[in-house]
Amino acid sequence: MSTLRFHAIKESLTNKPVLVEEKERRSDLFGKNVFNENTMRQYLTKDAFVGVMNAVQFGKKIDRNIADQVSSSMKDWALSKGVTHYTHWFQPLTGTTAEKHDAFFETIGNGMAVEKFGGSQLVQQEPDASSFPNGGIRNTFEARGYTAWDPTSPAFIYGTTLCIPTIFVAYTGEALDYKTPLLRALNAVDNAATDVCKYFDKNVKKVSSSLGWEQEYFLIDKVLAATRPDITLTGRTLLGHSSAKGQQLDDHYFGSIPNRALNFMRELETECMLLGIPVKTRHNEVAPNQFELAPIFEEANLAVDHNSLLMDIMGRVASRHNFKVLFHEKPFAGINGSGKHNNWSLSTDTGVNLLAPGKTPMSNLQFLTFFINTIKAVHENEELLRACIASASNDHRLGANEAPPAIISVFIGQQLTKVLEELEGVTKGKLSPEEKTELKLNVVGKIPDVLLDNTDRNRTSPFAFTGNKFEFRAVGSLANCGNPMTVLNTIVAKQLIDFKKEVDLLIEKKGLKKDEAVFNVLREYIKSTKAILFEGNGYGKEWEIEAEKRGLSNNKSTPEALRAKISKKSIALFEDMNVMSKVESQARYEIEMEAYIMHIQIESRVLGDIARNHIVPTAVKYQNILIENVKGLKEIFEDTYKTVSKEQINLIKEISSHIEGINANVTEMTNTRRKANTIEDVEEKALAYCYQVKPLFDDIRKHCDKLELLVDDEIWPLTKYRELLFTR
Ligand code: ADP
Ligand code: MG
Repeated sequence: MSTLRFHAIKESLTNKPVLVEEKERRSDLFGKNVFNENTMRQYLTKDAFVGVMNAVQFGKKIDRNIADQVSSSMKDWALSKGVTHYTHWFQPLTGTTAEKHDAFFETIGNGMAVEKFGGSQLVQQEPDASSFPNGGIRNTFEARGYTAWDPTSPAFIYGTTLCIPTIFVAYTGEALDYKTPLLRALNAVDNAATDVCKYFDKNVKKVSSSLGWEQEYFLIDKVLAATRPDITLTGRTLLGHSSAKGQQLDDHYFGSIPNRALNFMRELETECMLLGIPVKTRHNEVAPNQFELAPIFEEANLAVDHNSLLMDIMGRVASRHNFKVLFHEKPFAGINGSGKHNNWSLSTDTGVNLLAPGKTPMSNLQFLTFFINTIKAVHENEELLRACIASASNDHRLGANEAPPAIISVFIGQQLTKVLEELEGVTKGKLSPEEKTELKLNVVGKIPDVLLDNTDRNRTSPFAFTGNKFEFRAVGSLANCGNPMTVLNTIVAKQLIDFKKEVDLLIEKKGLKKDEAVFNVLREYIKSTKAILFEGNGYGKEWEIEAEKRGLSNNKSTPEALRAKISKKSIALFEDMNVMSKVESQARYEIEMEAYIMHIQIESRVLGDIARNHIVPTAVKYQNILIENVKGLKEIFEDTYKTVSKEQINLIKEISSHIEGINANVTEMTNTRRKANTIEDVEEKALAYCYQVKPLFDDIRKHCDKLELLVDDEIWPLTKYRELLFTR
């Protein structure tokens, strides 16, 4: 085994940057492999084009005749680009993407064949749902599920396959993927926000939610990563002593990108351009070998698809550059983990960003309305928001002494805090003309200026307002953004509906003018949501105590956090908003709890295996060398050998104590796991894994990492942190 590590190191040292040619301009490459509006105009009949656009913009159904025309044109386009297969591309609840390729090729008898792709194949397929997580939805006699075309996310070509983004549902209609509830949530927020917009602008017909994600990741030399069973099987290191140099010097962040990584990025970006993923920013992150990539924001459904697709492509491109890309939230102890900030906003079909201040007092009142309603939505649903970012891997980040914390709070900056303070003083009921003028001129009217010099850059808040959007920072780097985007858009939709009811009531029953009514309701919201606003540095004991006083939840682990998903309130919320039925909410809870248990279980098994079968034998081997040495010294020095071999003897003893520590803890971990496996109740079982099995990881690791410092480097089997993190 020890030789494998050195072979790998030797091989990794010969790696050179893989040559990448960028011949075409990015703007020319952009969307070349996408069946987008431009391509559709070329390939579709006018009827078919109008049909698809109506589906995209207004959710209108596409009839079979149009589907036939679209599929036929899609096929022609794909064949012209050398495509041989098609697939329904979807995002099951496994967290990765799924595809099953079928050839266009079909025989027609007499030894002849044609390329075929009909409307029915475009619109629907029937994969077996029983092999995907379904949380008990599938009953045994009806295992089928079906995928259905989502025309709002354009088909694309990857390699020689035409990929058609689809939803994935059980035969009984329940969602089995991330996209279905997301589309429903986007529809809910569209309706609710459009209604509220009508107070300010009657022309608004549609509101879309936008998402700009920022993907953090690590790039590790492929051969080195392959020597580590923990990285291979769990995506993170379960042990390994920290490197003498880590990120202390802060010399990686925004530093010049190492050449091998840069060439990987260039090829990745070319792939992204072809697929219409508008990547724009790339830079080194804080930790060694950690990087970030961000696109220009897009409509949320498309952005979610693009992030899932990107993660898939990154793995493939990385491999060509002899890298393994790690999306895990905490692949290495002691240095920064990775997240995926979700920048979120709402915008109208008239081109207005509802979370950006405008030029007139009225448009600023509209901004304030959406701004304050979002805060209110987060305040009312902070626990659910925490739940939607919970996973075994993200637990290492949230609340584990790394920003952001497990407590959800909202950061808005000093200037906007002041604006809210002023609004809080608005008179109850009708406003005097003077007060109205004052509000328009000096409070609402000043918002754009206020935001211009909004220099507050809080970096630790889990949910921060950043000038023209909210940034949900607690999302994990490994997550499918569909989950947080579903929850965020649903809670905002619900909040906007409640808001409209309250405003309408004041207008109808109290005879208030529209803007008076809006001011009145907003004032009450400002008063009632103070607990969620927090400007400070979000981690540490002090904030935990303060947050508890404020009544904010602090669910540190996934099993605790996920409970909020099946609370009466959450189930009712999802039902009311037509986003998920009770069965769907419960199924998702089950699936995520099961996934949590399985992740910890796998990690526990891998750790037990490495500790016992790799570390202990190595320690014994080294101990034997020491024993031989002591024996030799005894031969030479006879009676005085104890003095000359004192250090060796101490080392022998120390090694024994660590071996004992490992064995005792691995045995205890195995027994605890066995006991946990007999628990029927999923929550109880997950809690047992969380609070009984997982803590033993630390004890085992401590002994292994100590041994790493004691044992001869030459025989140490596991590639060390310094090698993994500093190989460029
Ligand atoms: P940072 O947060 O690193 O300072 P920026 O503020 O420039 O960076 O933007 C980060 C991300 O926010 C980018 O991916 C960008 O596309 C996205 N973004 C900008 N405006 C919006 C918006 N209105 N809606 C959603 N995302 C947005
Ligand atoms: Mg950011």
